[in-house]
Amino acid sequence: MANPMVDDAREIKEENPFESMMARFDRAAQLLDLDPDLYAVMRVPNRELKVYIPVRMDSGRMEVFEGYRVQHNFARGPAKGGIRYSPDVTIDEVKALAAWMTWKCAVVNVPFGGAKGGVVCNPHEMSLSELERMTRRFAAELIDFIGPEKDVPAPDMNTNEQTMAWIMDTYSMHARHTVNAVVTGKPVALGGSAGRREATGRGLLFVINEAIKKFKMTPPTTRVVVQGSGNVGGIGAMLLHEAGYKVVAISDISGGIYNPNGIDIPEAMEHLKRTRSFEEFAGVERVSNQDLLELECDVLAPCATENQIGSHNADRIKCKVLAEGANGPTTAAADEILHNKGIFVIPDILANAGGVTVSYFEWVQDRMGYFWKEEVVNERLQDVMVASFNDVSKYAETHGVDTRTAAYMLAIDRVGYDTRMRGIYA
Ligand code: GLU
Repeated sequence: MANPMVDDAREIKEENPFESMMARFDRAAQLLDLDPDLYAVMRVPNRELKVYIPVRMDSGRMEVFEGYRVQHNFARGPAKGGIRYSPDVTIDEVKALAAWMTWKCAVVNVPFGGAKGGVVCNPHEMSLSELERMTRRFAAELIDFIGPEKDVPAPDMNTNEQTMAWIMDTYSMHARHTVNAVVTGKPVALGGSAGRREATGRGLLFVINEAIKKFKMTPPTTRVVVQGSGNVGGIGAMLLHEAGYKVVAISDISGGIYNPNGIDIPEAMEHLKRTRSFEEFAGVERVSNQDLLELECDVLAPCATENQIGSHNADRIKCKVLAEGANGPTTAAADEILHNKGIFVIPDILANAGGVTVSYFEWVQDRMGYFWKEEVVNERLQDVMVASFNDVSKYAETHGVDTRTAAYMLAIDRVGYDTRMRGIYA
């Protein structure tokens, strides 16, 4: 009989994003025969900050929230990464996400290290002014640790352009002058970049375009399933639809819709905006978020949250291409199962790197004080995504490894090289 204690322990471990990240890191480091000194330095973050954020709630009561910022690596430049607001935020999740930012920036070769932040809160139950006070106090607590040359936050789950504008303003009030390069993902009018909002979804489209060529498919013959309809899934699905792909399923947090002949995505998104759910949308079947992952399709794009594909369902995934729009949607335990099924994986640290790539463009434009047209941004994003896809594919072929392992090896190789050249100040 199964020992429930052991099963529980295994499950907790599989679902711990930091364990998932480390399992891939260790495998890549081993294959690279990474120098033990570099291994010792690169396996841990540079800094973990934990802050307590007192917020005066609208009721007049004071509530104290817990916030984190993990700065994983600075070898290639300032740390870079989003801030998320969610009741599920944990230090291990933020540590994993910070490390993923380091590897992601290295895969697309932008001159940043990795960081991530999070506040344990339920933003859906907070008013706009409570969110503003919480954001400003969080920014004030981080004031010595962030900055254009130090660490540059951006939006992530449940944060947006408004959140970034508040952080930019708070930081600027302390600096006594406007410092727009302290965050990216700002409103365009305040030093944001054209195309930043769509960048993660657009980057996803560009790598899917490359992947389907390997299967001799074209957009009209490619059925895509998208999990999530936020900044990545929603915009990604719109762009895929526009590019002629047949998006057959999409979901939001409360569930999904499916039509094997394709969904009119602009109409579905309009419905979602108006009614806040896909329920009542006509001409489709309803599916749960878990069943949606197991639908017959060519491209599966999980664009929601971590741990959606694991040892519990990996053998039932039916796509040819898995394009990971979310960070960490697949646990390490699923990797081998997907590999044995011959599924071509575009790993998260490549597939969703369009966001940070345009964040890099935003940071460059802020520092120049000169802004590019959206076409220029999109064209440069395409160049980066296609080149990075080819780098990873070539690395996988040369080393005889799967694409996820190749992406980690490429990233660790780049960060390791720069660390060795700089030398370790020990
Ligand atoms: N939060 C996004 C990510 O996970 C963007 C980070 C950034 O632009 O710095 O990649």
